[in-house]
Amino acid sequence: MSRIETLAARAGSRPDPASGALSPPLQLATTFEHTPDGQLPQGFLYQRYDNPTQQETEQVLAALDRAARALLFPTGMAAGATALQALPPGSHVLLCDDSYFTFRVLAAQQFPRWGLECTIVDFTDLDAVRAALRPDTALLWAETPSNPLLKVSDIAALADIAHGAGARLLVDSTFAPAVIQQPLALGADIVLHSATKYLGGHGDVMGGVLAFADDDEHAAACHQLRLMAGATASPFAAWLILRGVRSLPARMDWHCRNARRVAEFLAGHAKVSAVHYPGLASHPQHAVAAAQMRDFGGMLSFEVAGGREAALAVASRMQLFTNATSLGSTESLVEHRASIEGPASTTPGGLLRLSVGLEHADDLVADLEQALAGG
Ligand SMILES: *Cc1c(COP(=O)(O)O)cnc(C)c1O
Repeated sequence: MSRIETLAARAGSRPDPASGALSPPLQLATTFEHTPDGQLPQGFLYQRYDNPTQQETEQVLAALDRAARALLFPTGMAAGATALQALPPGSHVLLCDDSYFTFRVLAAQQFPRWGLECTIVDFTDLDAVRAALRPDTALLWAETPSNPLLKVSDIAALADIAHGAGARLLVDSTFAPAVIQQPLALGADIVLHSATKYLGGHGDVMGGVLAFADDDEHAAACHQLRLMAGATASPFAAWLILRGVRSLPARMDWHCRNARRVAEFLAGHAKVSAVHYPGLASHPQHAVAAAQMRDFGGMLSFEVAGGREAALAVASRMQLFTNATSLGSTESLVEHRASIEGPASTTPGGLLRLSVGLEHADDLVADLEQALAGG
């Protein structure tokens, strides 16, 4: 099996039989010729069911995560919602307490309509996870590192707990794509990525991925739900994600290096009361992170001494870090998460989340220095 760097760099690259082109073709057709009695000579019927560009992208995504099968979706939320809706009716889900905020909103607002029940637990406390299990628990939903507190949970231990209870483990690994974290190799059953973030990598495409360790009945149910309910990514989105993947390992390396520099600078700053970055030895789960991650990613958050007002003032003085949501693109972003999450937020008021981009690290540190010094 090729190494991830090699797989990624050559994703979709082979001489096109028709033209010799090395860049993969973008096939926009909605329909494909079939025989009068409905046989599919090339395997394709209708774009919503499957299409060549999506198929090529899914094969690459499956290879990166060492998965039996990968499914592409138009957004990360569509991928996650499909994994949940494909569970047997009446299932109980354990959701980690620092999961992407919209999944917690989904659990509160939509789970009752879908016949699902949910318990929210701190996944860094394995005894609490064990205690929350029920006979009808079908899925443990982890996110590591988590958003926005960068909590790290022990994937192998959670997989053991899930399997011992007859449940599956899903890991939202959006902050740590396959090149730095391999949840399936650690025992997880499903990996979720928002491809909108690092996989696309340039802030110009949305997508979501479910990668499955086994091509089992849950994977089949997710596939069936996607093709019937219609959460199919556009071929152009699939093509952009495939293109993004080609430079993923190189970009991640740079994101990680820049984030480490920024985290170390912030950790030594008098006006910063906390830095949440799994690569720092002071991070409470640094040992788990070091054991299960190859590098620590490009995301971090920090707390400004003085709380909400001080944090908003620092964010407003930043020049290079743009105040914007999302992450994983080439440009650095800052966000006051509590403001964006609204009244139900549990995020500290003094917390700023950074998506550290691909600028020169000295420029990033200089911007933070002036923003923290001012006022
Ligand atoms: C952005 C994000 C999602 C949702 O993905 P979309 O592509 O915005 O739908 C899910 N999980 C995490 C950790 C994310 O950062």
